[in-house]
Amino acid sequence: MTPGRASLVIGAATVSGGGQADDIAVINPADQQIVGYAPAAGEQLVDDAVQAARRAYGDWSARPAAERAAHLSVIARWIRSRAGELARTLTLEQGKPLSEAASEVSAAAAAFDYYAAEAVRVYGQTVPTDSRTLRSLVIHQPYGVTAAITTWNYPLGLMAWKLAPALAAGCTVVAKPSELTPLATLDLIRGAAESGLPPGVLNSVSGTGAATGRYLAGHPGVAKISFTGGTSTGRQLLELAARDIKSVTLELGGHSPMIVAADAPLSLAVPDAVKRSFRNAGQLCNSVNRIFVERPVAQEFTEKFAAAAARLTVGPGLADPEPDIGPLTSAAALDRVERHVADARQAGAEVLTGGARPPDGPASAGYFYLPTVVRGGDGLLMLREETFGPVAPVVVVDDLDEAITAANALDFGLVCYLYTRDLRTSFTAAERLEFGTVSVNSVGGGDVHYPYAGWKRSGLGVELGRQGLEEYLRVKNIRMEIGYP
Ligand code: NDP
Repeated sequence: MTPGRASLVIGAATVSGGGQADDIAVINPADQQIVGYAPAAGEQLVDDAVQAARRAYGDWSARPAAERAAHLSVIARWIRSRAGELARTLTLEQGKPLSEAASEVSAAAAAFDYYAAEAVRVYGQTVPTDSRTLRSLVIHQPYGVTAAITTWNYPLGLMAWKLAPALAAGCTVVAKPSELTPLATLDLIRGAAESGLPPGVLNSVSGTGAATGRYLAGHPGVAKISFTGGTSTGRQLLELAARDIKSVTLELGGHSPMIVAADAPLSLAVPDAVKRSFRNAGQLCNSVNRIFVERPVAQEFTEKFAAAAARLTVGPGLADPEPDIGPLTSAAALDRVERHVADARQAGAEVLTGGARPPDGPASAGYFYLPTVVRGGDGLLMLREETFGPVAPVVVVDDLDEAITAANALDFGLVCYLYTRDLRTSFTAAERLEFGTVSVNSVGGGDVHYPYAGWKRSGLGVELGRQGLEEYLRVKNIRMEIGYP
């Protein structure tokens, strides 16, 4: 198959790049073959896209919310009509098994449906005043042009979580996907334009973060930056935003703990730990990065967890039968995993399963790593830094206080998982845990219906849920003196 060339949407134009030398080659992480090219947008194209979004803003923001909602519903239908193609593209560029890619496509469509429904519920307030003749209204209006910049682990899902609320609120958007995984996202934006979204409302620019992303975030015509990616990039964007006092929503790195209490239902905790440690090859912002288990159940939990991890199959995401785990998305991601496991070994930790790349077969050609369970060891790198790979360290604790203190000890605060049968423990621990989400007896998370906020260095602002729409709206107070002569 000849690798295709993706195109950008800028205003009413479709831009296919400045020739192969300027393009980004997108690599299939399962076999390191090129699967497509995307244009590398320079400063001029970024400026064109922002100007197109600015021109479209007046009309789009003034439309009745129901009209914007109707466009969002059309986009959701377009995504569903191309679900098979989009899922295949996601697997080719990102690596995840095809059925997981299909779930991601369906989550992207669900985000457009959800915010289509929310768009018409942006209510204001009337506020009592201290005068008989003064009236005070609070209304919500969109920020303007939004830069939506996302990372590569859930390319379509993460972008949909930004595009849908931004468009519903009345913002216009310039979207920049990751240079590693731009293809499905550029397809979606082209599909939205072909489905009748007015020109300029949703524009795309692909390219590197250091060039395209920086031009876009720093452009004075951008009023709002909505970003998902690493904490250090988030910090750079915050500094850039400070220059023009732009609004910023940041969804950043996590280092999610799982706490397994002595009374936890292990028949649930074990499979959930497997799911949340190894799904998408551990490349989840809310992946389980450290497991704290109370001593009485530590041995049973750890043995069952390691045995279940060892049964997972690893292979290309398009293989039949489908594997449980695909490759890591890049060579850099694989290097980091190898570095963290080497550090654990050196620190005396036991590698109970995995701890290596697959020795042979189709999985040896790409960026694959075996699901790995590590026990013990002091001061491990993987207990402090996000591994972002299929590696889970288990640490034994004497009581829940120790587990909560350890969970809160890092500067990350995205998600904490807690397994217990005790209702009182659930409430008191959940209130003490310094995370935007505490998930009790469940590894769900990142669902469009509920707010998803990173505390501490895991983010700023909120994504998803009703609150995710409010991030794209600013408050205006309209004061009316009606007692004039
Ligand atoms: P990066 O922060 O490196 O990149 C994310 C996006 O920002 C990419 O599009 C990138 O472009 C772009 N970018 C990079 N540098 C700049 C810059 N200076 N100016 C503007 N844009 C820039 O992503 P990571 O590889 O670090 O992503 C993984 C991280 O994302 C993990 O820490 C993970 O936890 C986090 N994450 C958080 C989620 C959440 O909801 N909290 C969800 C998913 C992931 P390019 O790729 O072209 O370099």
